[in-house]
Amino acid sequence: MGARGSCHCHSVRLLLTALPERVVACDCSLCSRRGMLWAHYADSEVAVEGFTEGYEWGDETISFRHCPKCGCTTHWESRVRTGGSVAVNARLIDGFAEAGGASTSTYSFQGRPAELHFLRGANG
Ligand SMILES: [Zn+2]
Repeated sequence: MGARGSCHCHSVRLLLTALPERVVACDCSLCSRRGMLWAHYADSEVAVEGFTEGYEWGDETISFRHCPKCGCTTHWESRVRTGGSVAVNARLIDGFAEAGGASTSTYSFQGRPAELHFLRGANG
């Protein structure tokens, strides 16, 4: 089953081969500021439609993309590998729901629960 998502203004659309089974909360210096929740895919499993702008820092191996109109972070992509990986902002995927609040939050897509993983110390 495919899945899709979009930024707030719908200028950027994400086409995915499947709903994610897990989401990743990363504590790096950027993701912690943005409150990111990522869904990881292989390059071949994601198509991004629409123009995005990038932000790179540190070793600049990853480009964090966002919609220039509404500001939503849409995905990140590797700048050094082909056939590598990509992660999309899980909160933009149609059917995303967060329940519980605060430290008891649980996440689901179209009613199907997703595992939450924490990624600690990914980089600066
Ligand atoms: Zn937008």
